Amino acid sequence: MSEIRIQGVWKYFSKGKVAALKDVSLTVQDREFMVLLGPSGCGKTTLLRCIAGLEYPERGRIFIGGRDVTDEPPRKRKIAMVFQSYAVFPHLTVFENIAFGLRMQKRPNAEVKQRVNNAAGMMRIENFLERYPAQLSGGQRQRVAVARGLVMEPQVLLMDEPLSNLDALLRLQARAELKRLLQQVQTTTVYVTHDQIEALSMGDRIAVMENGAIVQVDAPTQVYDYPGSLFVGGFIGTPPMNFLRGTVKSMNGAFALNLGGQPIRAALPANVQAGQDLLMGIRAENIEASAQRSPDAVPARVLVVEPLGSHLLLTVQVGETPIKVQTRMDFNIAPDQTIYLRLEPKQVRWFDPETGVRYDASGSTELK
Ligand code: ATP
Repeated sequence: MSEIRIQGVWKYFSKGKVAALKDVSLTVQDREFMVLLGPSGCGKTTLLRCIAGLEYPERGRIFIGGRDVTDEPPRKRKIAMVFQSYAVFPHLTVFENIAFGLRMQKRPNAEVKQRVNNAAGMMRIENFLERYPAQLSGGQRQRVAVARGLVMEPQVLLMDEPLSNLDALLRLQARAELKRLLQQVQTTTVYVTHDQIEALSMGDRIAVMENGAIVQVDAPTQVYDYPGSLFVGGFIGTPPMNFLRGTVKSMNGAFALNLGGQPIRAALPANVQAGQDLLMGIRAENIEASAQRSPDAVPARVLVVEPLGSHLLLTVQVGETPIKVQTRMDFNIAPDQTIYLRLEPKQVRWFDPETGVRYDASGSTELK
């Protein structure tokens, strides 16, 4: 069992002036692939370094495999870490790079050979063992760094932006490859990235961080479909979730959201009151655009048309608010024209405009 349990961890820098982690609690289950996701400076690396024992939290406890490791040095924690600059030694062959930790432990040659071969096999670099890092592609070098960690048979694998040094295409390939390889290895993994696509595509679960705190922990589809806050909805997705502010209006004994004079047909959260302000969240792909006027569709003025190959991305203006809408490539439209938007009712999410928090359940206040 190598579950990681982080309990109420606080970490300060600069003599207490910077709180890099604020009461962070998180459980990563045995063999789970957990992604820490968030913008630059939100505390991802600091949290990873606390798990590794490279930083000591001022408050809180960290358990690995049920053992309290908070006061233990890194070498006692049975972890392996792969960094952004996956520093492989240029003067050592791939074999000796992978063998490095075992040599430090003065393991017998036969054992080193067998374990290096195993780890290289898992990372599919067994044919490159005699090469030097300069003779490998970026993706292969990155696999050497992972193999070097795995060869130590860690309970926990910690990875800090391991793909960020690769160019875009290689990164795409390496992402899928790494995901497949790590699925086979099944080590408890914590993976830091600020790339939301990487997080969505790789993680069993994602812990989203904002300003030193974890604000949502969920499966990728859940984080994408049900962001817990304005911040999460605005950070995840390309383009990010659209947000429209409106006022609740009483109509025929029910409620509607009035968006710049246009009532929106959607289930509002329970217990809303007339006059209350709400933020509506909807993703670009959940809005249907039409050139034909219809009574229940929201008119919008087209600002920008971007053909992206697989679809068109429109920036349109609803009232005063610009939003993104995704349509088919053959949708014939030009800037300054008016189009009519229908929002998929099941895909509408509601947020409190003051706190930014999503309302949990939708109620029975749908406009008849
Ligand atoms: P990035 O994606 O840019 O690497 P991050 O989410 O990993 O960012 P951290 O590196 O964990 O963020 O930093 C969190 C906060 O703590 C930042 O405000 C950073 O400036 C601060 N910080 C991190 N390390 C130190 C340090 N050694 N001394 C002082 N402040 C630090």
